[in-house]
Order: sequence, then C-alpha cells, then structure tokens
Amino acid sequence: MSKVHATIVPVTPFQQNCTLLWCDATKRAAVIDPGGDLARIEDAIRQAGVTVERIWLTHGHIDHAGGAAELKERLGVPLEGPHKADLFLLERLADTGRSFGIAGARNVTPDRWLDETDQVRVGELVFDVLHCPGHSPGSVALFNAEQRFAIVGDALFRGSVGRSDIPGGDHAQLIGSIKAKLLPLGDDVAFICGHGPTSTIGHERASNPFLQ
Ligand SMILES: [Zn+2]
Ligand SMILES: [Zn+2]
Repeated sequence: MSKVHATIVPVTPFQQNCTLLWCDATKRAAVIDPGGDLARIEDAIRQAGVTVERIWLTHGHIDHAGGAAELKERLGVPLEGPHKADLFLLERLADTGRSFGIAGARNVTPDRWLDETDQVRVGELVFDVLHCPGHSPGSVALFNAEQRFAIVGDALFRGSVGRSDIPGGDHAQLIGSIKAKLLPLGDDVAFICGHGPTSTIGHERASNPFLQ
C-alpha cells in the first residue's frame, strides 16, 4: 500500500492551496488546482524530485484553474476534472483573470471530465471522485480510501464552508453535498481544502458552525 505525500503551494492573490501530491512507491505525482504562480509550483516539483503525470481540477474558479492550460502545456500531461457543469467557468478564465489581475490566466478544456463513481489514478494511488455541487455546479472532491485522505476544493474548510454567493453557487445544495458526500467518508479522514489549514471530517462534524 503506497503512501500519499502532499505539499501545499499557496498560489494567486487568493492564497489558494495548489497541492502537489505523489505516490511514495513510484514518485509519480499530480498537481491539483494550479491557479497560477507556475514558477512556484515548478520549484515544488523539483524539490520533491517527482514526475508529474496528471493535473486535476476540483472546480473551475480562477484561483484554482487559471494556470492549468499553461502548466498542462509545459508538462505535457493530461488534465482531469472538474465535472462538466463548470464548463462555463473554464470558458471565461482569461476574462476573469484580467478582472482579478491574475497574469497569464487562460481558458482551458480538460482532457477528461469527472463525474460521480469515476476514479483518478496517479502512480499506485486511486482516488474516488465525488461530485459536490453548491460552491460551483461542477465541484468535485477526490478521496483515497486506503490512506483516509481527501482533497475537497472549496466545498468544506476548517471551520467554514465555500461561498455560494457567486454565479452557479447554491448554499443549500452545498450543505447537502457536504452532508451526503463528505461527512460519510468517516471522522478519521484528513483533508486538504482550497484555502487555509487542513482538517479532518471528524473535526468539522463536531465543530463546524455551518454543519450543526
Ligand atoms: Zn472556488
Ligand atoms: Zn478558491
């Protein structure tokens, strides 16, 4: 059973947690949510001494996806995710980047859309795809059952939940997604979220004010 290693690289003015994740056994890696600041991401790849073979997107917002087209081109690897319901966001990343002052943001089309019951793989690691709409319609979470580890994007944070006051957001749907898809993963599951510190499902079930 190969271990998951992960290092967080904060990117863009939104301090988004771009995550470099790799399989201990093979040193094969995935970059999750390369919103921008690609030089920093490439430094992290060099420091870890890993080979990136995938880029994964949890959703289509600029701070998560703005650098995906450029990084995909530089690394020559496939881009997987998010769910197709975020197409409208990916189609306007360049415009959104200009309005938020994120240099070099480009529109992007994934090589593979993800949906509930799909899996993504890197090295010997397998992640189940969970469609978690509410923060955006096409948001997905990725869950590695063996290592009790998840990547949840902007659905759930330590002590908070994602915004739903932006186009395509729906607060009731978001809380529904968290309760139906994320809480059942189990209290022992640790997760990396799109912004801020990591947490566990158990900690959020017990203390997150949005889930009481
Ligand atoms: Zn977002
Ligand atoms: Zn975000």
